[in-house]
Amino acid sequence: MGKKNLFKLLPKVDELLGRVTIEELVLSHPRQLVLEAIREEIELLRDKIRNNISEEEFLDILPNVENNIVQRVKVKNLYKLRRVINATGVVIHTNLGRSIINDKIMDHIKEVVTHYSNLEFDLANGIRGSRYSHVEELITKCTGSEAAMVVNNNAAAVLLTLNTIAKDKEVIVSRGELIEIGGSFRIPDVMIQSGANLVEVGTTNKTHLYDYENAINENTAALLKVHTSNYRILGFTSSVSSEELIKLKTQYNIPVIEDLGSGVLIDLSKYGLEYEPTVQDALSRGVDIVTFSGDKLLGGPQAGIIVGKKKYIDAMKKNPLTRAFRVDKFTLAALEGTLRFYLDENWAVKEIPTMRMLTESIDIINKKAETLRNLIYDYSNIVDITIEDDFSEVGGGSLPLEKIPTKCIVISLKGKSIQTFERMLRDYEVPIIARVYKDRIYFDLRTINDDEIFIIADGIKTVLKLFKECI
Ligand SMILES: *Cc1c(COP(=O)(O)O)cnc(C)c1O
Repeated sequence: MGKKNLFKLLPKVDELLGRVTIEELVLSHPRQLVLEAIREEIELLRDKIRNNISEEEFLDILPNVENNIVQRVKVKNLYKLRRVINATGVVIHTNLGRSIINDKIMDHIKEVVTHYSNLEFDLANGIRGSRYSHVEELITKCTGSEAAMVVNNNAAAVLLTLNTIAKDKEVIVSRGELIEIGGSFRIPDVMIQSGANLVEVGTTNKTHLYDYENAINENTAALLKVHTSNYRILGFTSSVSSEELIKLKTQYNIPVIEDLGSGVLIDLSKYGLEYEPTVQDALSRGVDIVTFSGDKLLGGPQAGIIVGKKKYIDAMKKNPLTRAFRVDKFTLAALEGTLRFYLDENWAVKEIPTMRMLTESIDIINKKAETLRNLIYDYSNIVDITIEDDFSEVGGGSLPLEKIPTKCIVISLKGKSIQTFERMLRDYEVPIIARVYKDRIYFDLRTINDDEIFIIADGIKTVLKLFKECI
């Protein structure tokens, strides 16, 4: 049979749509996806004919068409944004969704968003209310600030702060703090967008109080301190603390703004981590405005939180940009739920996943590693499985030098491609994201919760079975 005749054997779209399997498929899946899958499958067969597939082979694969279409539709119908398992040990992993939300508050979030709510309604007085009111009191309680507001993320918080306080005026920043945060947040660029004029002082490694003082003039609207959260300059360095900046503030009556980045509310040094400046400390030192992220060390949803003096926060609330940066009810519900845990520090450390993972004891992590190893132990004849000491990272550009001791399951494949293994785990029904280093794959148990151990074990087994078949 020549090519021409093989082309004649290609099924038609309408004919395929009429087959029972496909008819059933259309009942439970979007018709458009089924049509796409049919066309792709026919095109694939057509390509094969063009590439001189033998008649025998062609007749062999033709009966698979229906099944292939079903598989294609299933894949197309998967959510694009979905859960993955973070086995990297990077707790605040920006690519994997940063902080995760405690399941216990999901019922509340669901109730708020699947019903009408008092989002902007003052129930006590029956009049229009403010969406910020629901979290403002909690934030002020947890941080000791006079006032608070919430915007979409910390980048927006910095932009709104500068635009409100320093538009067309000067803001003094140390050259050592002109940082870039992943994803193109650069302090000088944000400054331009805010309409404030950047006045750089000092050098990359050293800035002194007199550098700021010398730059102050009648156009100075603020002194900005940026927490260099994602890197450290080591060696011959000095920077001016916000404490010292406050001296200038009192002397010249210029507000001090501090972009803390991560914004932790709990002193992490109590839990064996490096001290990261807390929001409370910054405020009690006298900083006028502090901005921080909701989904870094705070452990809540994506948000930018602005705390500080009421007169500045009130001015920000009136700024038209606020409307563009405003948070929705999902965020507010998740943020309120997260902040409530902070009313009791022990509670926060236990219930906020980011805090829990960062402070999890090595014994518990080791137990999880043993559980995982036992679940996959049957495979130790075809691969090497060990539990090893390693280090987790905080991530999210927070505490960049902090290396937290952890335990990993490490697998090395005897002679097979670790890259293929890693990719197949990423393709697993619940994608498993692990770390490959020197021909071995690492699963850090710090960022893996108890029920995920079983999913990982199943994933590893499934992939190893496929590998075994390839031997
Ligand atoms: C992370 C970070 C930002 C940006 O915060 P987003 O919430 O990601 O917008 C700004 N400044 C500092 C110092 C940061 O660490």
